[in-house]
Order: sequence, then C-alpha cells, then structure tokens
Amino acid sequence: MLSEQASGKVRAVDDMLKFLFWLLVGVYVYRRWIAPSRRGSLDIPPAAPQGKELSVDAVRCRQCGMYVPRDEAIHNGVDWFCSPQHEQECRHAPHESRHG
Ligand SMILES: [Zn+2]
Repeated sequence: MLSEQASGKVRAVDDMLKFLFWLLVGVYVYRRWIAPSRRGSLDIPPAAPQGKELSVDAVRCRQCGMYVPRDEAIHNGVDWFCSPQHEQECRHAPHESRHG
C-alpha cells in the first residue's frame, strides 16, 4: 500500500531528472553552436604554437623558393637565399633581367 508521501517523492525525483536532462541539453547546445559562433568573430587560430621562429620574418630563397628565417638567410644585396651554396649558384647562373 503506497502512501501519498511516497508517490509524491517519486514525482519530485522524476522532475529533477527532467530538469537535469534539459540542463545538459542546454549546455550541449550552448557549447556546440552558441559559444563557437561568438568566438568566431575574433578569428583566433585553434592552436598557435608559441615559437621564436614564427615571430621572425621569413624570406624566400631565390634559387629554390624555400622560405627561411631572415636570421639564417643569405642576402647578397638584392635577393635572399637559404644557403651560401644557392647564393653562389644564382650568381653564376645567367641573370634573367640582364640584357646585352
Ligand atoms: Zn635555396
């Protein structure tokens, strides 16, 4: 024989479970759609590695086209090179812009 008190207790637990369910749904929806869209305006890359190399300017080797940090690049006054070898190769190669 169930008393009125017991059935009322079960109903209260059921309401609490429903509340928790919708709370989880709300949190899920917020984190899935609302939070990313709000953060999208800032346009921050997901994982920005904090390296000293990235803050240094990169220059392009005229000979092979590879990008190298300016600290390690070779500059012959006009162009940048990834290595002294490529600087010499370009110097010995006939220059395109030179005419006559
Ligand atoms: Zn090179």
